[in-house]
Amino acid sequence: MEIEKDRVVTLHYTLRGADGNVLDSSEGKDPLSYLHGHGNLIPGLETRIVGKTADDEMEVQVPFAEAYGAVDPEKKFEVPRTQFPPEAEIVPGSQFRAEGEGGTPVVVRVEAVEGDKVKIDANHPLAGVDLNFAVKVVGVREASAEEIEHGHVH
Ligand code: ZN
Repeated sequence: MEIEKDRVVTLHYTLRGADGNVLDSSEGKDPLSYLHGHGNLIPGLETRIVGKTADDEMEVQVPFAEAYGAVDPEKKFEVPRTQFPPEAEIVPGSQFRAEGEGGTPVVVRVEAVEGDKVKIDANHPLAGVDLNFAVKVVGVREASAEEIEHGHVH
């Protein structure tokens, strides 16, 4: 059975960044199952595995524009150190939950600390990154009517 809209796809994947470093992988874990065609995968990966079947293995390159988008300079900003709790550890790489537009929670990262100013980046950590997926299809099945209605796998 081929991968297409309204089918449940189970796959193993390893995601590498441009320099070959592993960013995420299902290796050693359960494979990922998702409902195809409902926005559950990044769009650039979903469109490139249409038509594949169980046991197919492939390398898929996804440019950042079809993954997590470009880095948005407006999502980089400075806040005074006093906006953080005094006991919080503020070093480059620290992550915090903050409220984004419309109150949706976003994860922001500390890029740098300069005196009493903290440089923050609220872009997705993979924004601006071209992605390389190694994918192995484990199985493809028809989704149930309820799964299609809900937009996810049961
Ligand atoms: Zn459901």
